[in-house]
Order: sequence, then structure tokens, then C-alpha cells
Amino acid sequence: MIDTHCHLDDLLEACPEAPARWRAAGVTALITMGTHPAQWPDALAAAQRAQAGGSTVGVALGVHPWWVETVATVSVSAALTEALDQSPLPVVAVGEIGLDAVRAPHTLPAQHALLTTQLAIAQHHGLPVVLHERKTADLLLAALRRHPGMTGVVHGFTGSLQQAQRLIDCGMHLGVGAALTHPRATRLRAMWAALPVEALLLESDAPFQPGAAHRGAVNEPAFLPETLQALARQRGVEPAALAAQLDENAGRVFASMFGRLLKNGFNSLLGASS
Ligand SMILES: [Zn+2]
Repeated sequence: MIDTHCHLDDLLEACPEAPARWRAAGVTALITMGTHPAQWPDALAAAQRAQAGGSTVGVALGVHPWWVETVATVSVSAALTEALDQSPLPVVAVGEIGLDAVRAPHTLPAQHALLTTQLAIAQHHGLPVVLHERKTADLLLAALRRHPGMTGVVHGFTGSLQQAQRLIDCGMHLGVGAALTHPRATRLRAMWAALPVEALLLESDAPFQPGAAHRGAVNEPAFLPETLQALARQRGVEPAALAAQLDENAGRVFASMFGRLLKNGFNSLLGASS
């Protein structure tokens, strides 16, 4: 299994034993998020630590919309371009970037400028994007339509089935996280069952957003099988077959991370997950 969205620096600080547990659970690869230029070195260091432990780790670098007021868009452009060129680890995506209309709606115009800058950089580098969405599906759609030909994933999606389908038409995938394990998430489960499986990815968002069985605890990539099983049950398919399909999707979206592995037989990477 591939965890397409986690925050390894925060996770390893909260839970140093997490890597052993995700390996035991069959999580072979992870993508960790950059959220702020001052945090990128921490993201890279955490990725290197996890990689030394035997996991395949990809790094996404970007500025999260929550931190829009702490950066100047112009300097983000320069810093991100430099970081993409000079990172000691391969950067596999631009993220976590996006728009949040709930936490600080008054910053939306500034968030939009920051997003547009980062979308242009991703497009220029041929990298996928990892998008944060919170009541902003239509705004993200409009921004993506001005950057045609991009791929990536909308993480923690909160929108409607129709909005999800439009995002997929724009080249996006949707990250399925532990939220679907919550008893009251009926609408979300129905949506995950209705969308084409090729458009779905697995994500933990660890150490954040724990599922129903871990309420109030640190969320871990090791809990990904619970999300997988809930999704498989909802779609009426075998978990192993679904895991293989979701891993293949991740390999397609984050091709620069998995390209070498694909060439050598992608299944060797996936051996432990099925
Ligand atoms: Zn996140």
C-alpha cells in the first residue's frame, strides 16, 4: 500500500515507532508534505529517516493555504523553484497547496494568488499537485481550468459527487482517508463507492484526522488497511484487488517517484501490500 498523503515530520515527532508499524501493516511507500519554506528541511529530514528504515518516500514541497499570511507570494515562487532544483531527495509533487474557505475566509484572495503561483511552478516542472480543499471545490476547479493538462490529487475532499466528477475531468484524483470510517459519514461513503476506482488514491494525513477506531489518538499510516477495508466493503470488492488498483493509480500520478520501480516491475514494490 502507498500512503499518498502524510506529514512525516509531525508524525515521527509524535510517534517515533510509526515506521515499524506501517511496515508491518504493509505500507511500502509514502508521500510526505511540505507546508512552509521553514518546514521543508524538516520534511526532507523526516523523509530521509524513513527511507533509511527501508520505506520508499517521496516528498512534496509547497506552501499550505493556512500559512498564506506568513509568506510573500513573490518569495515563495523563488524559494520553491530553488528547492525543487536543489532538493537532496526527489521532489515528486508540489504540495500541500490549495484553498481553505473555512479556517480564514478573509485570506481567500491571497490564498488564490499563492495557489496560482504554485500551480504555474508545478506545470512548468511537469509535477503533479497535492491540493487542500475545504469548501473550495468550485474555486479549485476554476484555478485548474486555467492550468490545463495538470494531474494530481485533491486531499481531504469535502465537496459533492458532482464536484468530484468535475475535478476528475480536470485530471485530478481524490484521496480517500479515514474519514469514511466514521459512522455518520454516509454521504462520503456513497460518494467513494460511486466514483471510478481509477480516480481514487489512499491517504492517511497522519498524524492528523484519525479514523473511528482511533478517535483522539495520533493517526498513523499503519491504519491505512482500515481505510482500505472500509472502501472495499463499500464498493463490494476484494481488499487485495482494490489495494493493487489504488497503488497502480498512485504510481501513475506520482510517476517520477515510481517510474524506476515501474520499469523494474511495479509489483515488486507492491509485494508486501497484497
Ligand atoms: Zn495534509
